[in-house]
Amino acid sequence: MADAQKGKNPEKAKRAAAHPERPGELCKAPAGKFLPVVDVRRCEGKADCVEVCPYDVFEVGAIDDAEYRALPALNRLKLWVHGKKTALTPRASACQACGLCVVACPEQAIVLAPAPLE
Ligand code: SF4
Ligand code: SF4
Repeated sequence: MADAQKGKNPEKAKRAAAHPERPGELCKAPAGKFLPVVDVRRCEGKADCVEVCPYDVFEVGAIDDAEYRALPALNRLKLWVHGKKTALTPRASACQACGLCVVACPEQAIVLAPAPLE
Protein backbone atom coordinates (compact mmCIF):
# COMPACT_ATOMS: atom_id res chain seq x y z
CA MET A 1 0.00 0.00 0.00
CA ALA A 2 3.07 2.27 0.16
CA ASP A 3 2.45 3.56 -3.38
CA ALA A 4 -0.94 4.87 -2.31
CA GLN A 5 0.75 7.27 0.08
CA LYS A 6 2.92 8.88 -2.60
CA GLY A 7 0.27 10.23 -4.99
CA LYS A 8 -0.90 13.86 -4.94
CA ASN A 9 -4.18 12.76 -3.35
CA PRO A 10 -3.31 10.01 -0.82
CA GLU A 11 -6.96 9.43 0.17
CA LYS A 12 -8.03 8.81 -3.43
CA ALA A 13 -4.93 6.70 -4.04
CA LYS A 14 -5.73 4.60 -0.98
CA ARG A 15 -9.24 3.93 -2.28
CA ALA A 16 -7.80 2.95 -5.67
CA ALA A 17 -5.27 0.66 -3.97
CA ALA A 18 -8.13 -1.26 -2.33
CA HIS A 19 -10.11 -1.60 -5.58
CA PRO A 20 -10.82 -5.30 -6.25
CA GLU A 21 -10.12 -4.92 -9.96
CA ARG A 22 -6.78 -3.17 -9.61
CA PRO A 23 -4.31 -4.99 -11.86
CA GLY A 24 -2.14 -5.80 -8.84
CA GLU A 25 -0.21 -8.63 -10.42
CA LEU A 26 1.73 -6.00 -12.35
CA CYS A 27 2.57 -4.10 -9.18
CA LYS A 28 6.21 -2.99 -8.87
CA ALA A 29 7.22 -3.83 -12.40
CA PRO A 30 10.58 -2.28 -13.20
CA ALA A 31 10.08 1.25 -14.56
CA GLY A 32 9.67 1.22 -18.33
CA LYS A 33 8.32 -2.35 -18.64
CA PHE A 34 4.68 -1.26 -18.86
CA LEU A 35 3.15 1.99 -20.08
CA PRO A 36 -0.22 3.54 -19.28
CA VAL A 37 -2.21 4.01 -22.48
CA VAL A 38 -4.99 6.61 -22.42
CA ASP A 39 -7.97 6.23 -24.74
CA VAL A 40 -8.52 9.90 -25.64
CA ARG A 41 -12.01 9.03 -26.90
CA ARG A 42 -13.03 8.15 -23.35
CA CYS A 43 -10.90 10.56 -21.31
CA GLU A 44 -12.74 13.56 -19.89
CA GLY A 45 -9.68 15.24 -18.36
CA LYS A 46 -10.88 14.74 -14.81
CA ALA A 47 -7.31 14.21 -13.59
CA ASP A 48 -7.92 11.37 -11.12
CA CYS A 49 -4.92 9.70 -12.75
CA VAL A 50 -2.79 12.78 -11.98
CA GLU A 51 -3.92 12.64 -8.36
CA VAL A 52 -3.24 8.96 -7.68
CA CYS A 53 -0.08 8.17 -9.65
CA PRO A 54 2.83 7.77 -7.20
CA TYR A 55 5.38 8.42 -9.97
CA ASP A 56 3.97 11.63 -11.44
CA VAL A 57 3.47 10.08 -14.86
CA PHE A 58 0.41 12.12 -15.91
CA GLU A 59 -0.61 15.67 -16.57
CA VAL A 60 -3.80 17.01 -18.11
CA GLY A 61 -3.18 19.20 -21.13
CA ALA A 62 -4.20 19.97 -24.69
CA ILE A 63 -4.40 17.02 -27.05
CA ASP A 64 -1.93 16.99 -29.93
CA ASP A 65 -3.53 18.70 -32.94
CA ALA A 66 -2.87 15.91 -35.44
CA GLU A 67 -4.30 13.34 -33.02
CA TYR A 68 -7.36 15.54 -32.50
CA ARG A 69 -8.00 15.94 -36.23
CA ALA A 70 -7.73 12.17 -36.76
CA LEU A 71 -10.60 11.46 -34.34
CA PRO A 72 -14.21 10.82 -35.42
CA ALA A 73 -16.44 13.93 -35.31
CA LEU A 74 -18.32 12.87 -32.18
CA ASN A 75 -15.11 12.35 -30.22
CA ARG A 76 -13.78 15.70 -31.46
CA LEU A 77 -16.96 17.34 -30.22
CA LYS A 78 -16.70 15.66 -26.82
CA LEU A 79 -13.09 16.78 -26.47
CA TRP A 80 -13.93 20.30 -27.63
CA VAL A 81 -16.55 20.52 -24.87
CA HIS A 82 -13.75 19.70 -22.40
CA GLY A 83 -11.47 22.38 -23.80
CA LYS A 84 -9.56 19.73 -25.83
CA LYS A 85 -8.02 18.61 -22.55
CA THR A 86 -6.92 15.04 -22.10
CA ALA A 87 -4.56 13.01 -19.95
CA LEU A 88 -1.00 13.11 -21.26
CA THR A 89 1.81 10.82 -20.10
CA PRO A 90 4.99 12.93 -20.25
CA ARG A 91 6.74 10.70 -17.72
CA ALA A 92 5.45 7.31 -18.94
CA SER A 93 8.92 5.78 -18.61
CA ALA A 94 8.62 6.17 -14.80
CA CYS A 95 5.51 3.93 -14.65
CA GLN A 96 5.90 0.92 -12.35
CA ALA A 97 2.56 -0.63 -13.30
CA CYS A 98 0.98 -0.25 -9.87
CA GLY A 99 -2.48 -0.08 -11.50
CA LEU A 100 -3.81 2.79 -9.38
CA CYS A 101 -4.61 4.97 -12.42
CA VAL A 102 -6.45 2.12 -14.14
CA VAL A 103 -8.99 1.72 -11.35
CA ALA A 104 -9.12 5.42 -10.36
CA CYS A 105 -10.15 6.61 -13.83
CA PRO A 106 -13.94 7.16 -13.78
CA GLU A 107 -14.12 6.74 -17.56
CA GLN A 108 -12.18 3.45 -17.76
CA ALA A 109 -9.88 5.24 -20.19
CA ILE A 110 -6.55 3.76 -19.06
CA VAL A 111 -4.99 0.37 -19.69
CA LEU A 112 -1.48 -0.83 -18.96
CA ALA A 113 0.37 -2.20 -21.95
CA PRO A 114 3.77 -3.84 -22.18
CA ALA A 115 6.30 -1.28 -23.38
CA PRO A 116 7.61 -1.94 -26.89
CA LEU A 117 11.05 -3.56 -26.93
CA GLU A 118 13.85 -1.09 -27.64
S1 SF4 B 1 -7.51 9.25 -18.11
FE1 SF4 B 1 -9.29 9.06 -16.74
S2 SF4 B 1 -8.57 9.81 -14.75
FE2 SF4 B 1 -7.09 10.54 -16.30
S3 SF4 B 1 -7.82 12.55 -16.93
FE3 SF4 B 1 -8.74 11.10 -18.33
S4 SF4 B 1 -10.75 10.62 -17.44
FE4 SF4 B 1 -9.52 11.54 -15.84
S1 SF4 C 1 0.19 2.21 -13.25
FE1 SF4 C 1 1.91 3.56 -13.79
S2 SF4 C 1 0.96 5.40 -14.55
FE2 SF4 C 1 -0.63 4.28 -13.44
S3 SF4 C 1 -0.59 5.07 -11.37
FE3 SF4 C 1 0.78 3.33 -11.39
S4 SF4 C 1 2.83 4.14 -11.84
FE4 SF4 C 1 1.31 5.73 -12.37
